[in-house]
Amino acid sequence: MDIEIRGLGIRFRAGVEAARGIDLTVRSGEFVAVVGPSGCGKSTMLNAIACLLSPEEAEVTGEILADGKDVRSCAARDLNFGYVFQRDNLLPWRTIADNVQTGLEIRGVDAPSRRKRTAELLELAGLTGFEHYYPHQVSGGMRQRTSLIRTLAYDPDVILMDEPFGALDAQTRMILQGELLRIWERTHKTILFVTHDLAEAIILAQRVVLFSKRPGFVRQVYESDLPYPRDPFELRGSPRFGELETTIWQTLRDDFRSDPTA
Ligand code: ADP
Ligand code: MG
Repeated sequence: MDIEIRGLGIRFRAGVEAARGIDLTVRSGEFVAVVGPSGCGKSTMLNAIACLLSPEEAEVTGEILADGKDVRSCAARDLNFGYVFQRDNLLPWRTIADNVQTGLEIRGVDAPSRRKRTAELLELAGLTGFEHYYPHQVSGGMRQRTSLIRTLAYDPDVILMDEPFGALDAQTRMILQGELLRIWERTHKTILFVTHDLAEAIILAQRVVLFSKRPGFVRQVYESDLPYPRDPFELRGSPRFGELETTIWQTLRDDFRSDPTA
């Protein structure tokens, strides 16, 4: 599914202008990362795409099109979007396997198909053997893996990811980046990934979109032409990664520097 954003502006009723004139296109099957200083409107943009901003909360102007159709005119359930947050929002009273199945249950998928799909996904995420554990009994990395495959379970057309690895330690983050790359290389899901971590954006995405500071807009777009299959650990030492990081950082640094909350 293609996502096209044209002239997107978002102003919270409380007074904050979060976005001004965002133009961004994500083509079907593409992995795009958005990077920008904290508070520049990244999460707010994802919420607008997912139709999670109520008119009482914020005024949204401009266009957000999914395969040419205005997302705000469609009933939310017609849009098959997946959303993965920084903090996993697993249901604490359900096991890992039951959490993965939640979306399938809501969509009325029969039990044998659910079990089969869940087993495949647990395998994909290296969680086989942990299906009967509860979220509090596993690590943060395992909970984020569970969130990710719970989203994959219902085969969304687009996956929105908001700093999904932001709360993890550096080593776990690198492992999950590698797993996400492997999943994307296999499935070619359309992914819009938000992060404040430039290295993460370069390693994961085909295109890195640089936001200005608030009110956010697209300042520049870079191709991340690193070869596939990508290994996050190896790439970090590669000359091409270093070049991309230096180039993008030169544009980005002033925005980060002038943000007192950074
Ligand atoms: P980012 O994800 O890039 O760090 P956000 O999109 O969360 O930034 O926030 C952008 C701006 O909008 C910030 O100044 C934030 O304080 C403000 N903001 C976010 N949510 C709300 C809200 N519900 N009401 C009012 N202001 C908000
Ligand atoms: Mg955010």
